[in-house]
Amino acid sequence: MGESSSVNQAEVWVDLHVHLGRAAGRPVKISASPALDLAGVLATAKAAVGLDGVGVVDACTVGGLADLRAAVAAGALRPVAGGGLVAADGLVILPAAEVELDMAGHRVHFVALLPDLDAASSLGQRLARHVRNPWLSSQMAHDLDPAGLLAMAATVGGVVWPAHAFTPHRGLYGCAVRSAAAPPPLGLGPRVFEGFIAVELGLSADTAMADRLGELAELSFVSNSDAHGLATLGREVNRMRLRGPLDFTGVVRCLRREAGFEMVANYGMEPAMGKYHRTGCLRCGRTADGPPPQASCADCPGSRVVTGVLDRLAAIADRAEPQHPAHRPPYHRQVPLSSLPGVGPRTLGRLRSALGPDLAVLHRAEADAIAAVAGGTVARWILAARQGRLRLQAGGGGTYGKVLGVARLA
Ligand SMILES: [Zn+2]
Ligand SMILES: [Zn+2]
Repeated sequence: MGESSSVNQAEVWVDLHVHLGRAAGRPVKISASPALDLAGVLATAKAAVGLDGVGVVDACTVGGLADLRAAVAAGALRPVAGGGLVAADGLVILPAAEVELDMAGHRVHFVALLPDLDAASSLGQRLARHVRNPWLSSQMAHDLDPAGLLAMAATVGGVVWPAHAFTPHRGLYGCAVRSAAAPPPLGLGPRVFEGFIAVELGLSADTAMADRLGELAELSFVSNSDAHGLATLGREVNRMRLRGPLDFTGVVRCLRREAGFEMVANYGMEPAMGKYHRTGCLRCGRTADGPPPQASCADCPGSRVVTGVLDRLAAIADRAEPQHPAHRPPYHRQVPLSSLPGVGPRTLGRLRSALGPDLAVLHRAEADAIAAVAGGTVARWILAARQGRLRLQAGGGGTYGKVLGVARLA
């Protein structure tokens, strides 16, 4: 927060988990917006959001790869030496794949980050033997386990992390394991963390929640948007300091915390804003508000619930309080501009043209400057969000949390 670009030329904003709604004229991620195609990402990510790097997790689908290859052929993207593709405005696209694996009946998502399009093509061909429809994103890869995916990714020079690790749907800890290091079949075995390069926190969790699991201490945490539309690009993002240019190798060295490379901070949504933060009842819609863990609905005993991320972590944590390892960077909370009351498309457009991309408005712009463009109320919301003083109604059961107001200073 408040770093000036003249001091830290090599600090960059990187969002490593972004979907494509459409590619090569066909749907890719069914639940994603068709506006979120490669052209949309290239037009928006840097200019409007302020991102320096984007991991496109549908790069191994047939259409995603075709669009990326076409962009290179047209000169819109140029391969860079250390891996990745750079656009005319400096945005770096990192090819990646989100893969779903069956773990004892639980469907769990992993992201493989890849150096280049040949690696994406090679991994796509290998995965095609395991998936039903290679055009679609995040397909279940049958007869493949995490060790198999790690080996497959390593063969093409890629690295792997569990995606949105704590979410009840398709998160490693959220639905499949209480401890990843536990011996099989309960976990993946004590050497599991020699394989994964990081853990993705997911929208409903933050560092303080995840550091209640002692076994994650050695791993870097990544905070990524899992964007399904242009409006959610960068809603969670990593601030990285790299010695040298932003490229695949630099990101990997950053996650490995090599000398000269640093995860400066995670920026993520207020966990309470996430749609699976607390346990939610599928019968009456109530979001649990009692002390975590809540495993049922207070109003309707016996109803089906979706366990909240906070509740799940409270149930599986081996520490009552988070213990942050020395390498753990700070976690700064942010609320997407478009989720603030009073910030519609017109206000967003005015903020962007007057003050720069969203990340600059959220974290850098002066209150007076924001007020002059969008009014004093919006300026107060943005400042309160920076200071973690927003009053929120927690999300749960698939419904996002809401901003209710600004908390008074104690
Ligand atoms: Zn996923
Ligand atoms: Zn209920």
